[in-house]
Amino acid sequence: MGRKCLDYIKELNDYIDGDLDPALCEEIEKHIGHCENCRIMVDTMKQSVKLCREGRPVELPKSLESKLNNLLKDRWQIKFGK
Ligand SMILES: [Zn+2]
Repeated sequence: MGRKCLDYIKELNDYIDGDLDPALCEEIEKHIGHCENCRIMVDTMKQSVKLCREGRPVELPKSLESKLNNLLKDRWQIKFGK
């Protein structure tokens, strides 16, 4: 088994910014190809980044972060019953 979702999530910000090491970037792309949770995370984050760049009001990063955490926690609880 490779790395866990939580390990990827830490890198997703850099991944979206295009700041990531190419090897790691490839690894994340492979992972989100078959991991729905992480794909949703990336989509949500990309959307927020896009809104931000378009100059529309967005939530503070901190509240976005907790929102994403909650979203993920909920999905994991459903999926893994934790
Ligand atoms: Zn994942």
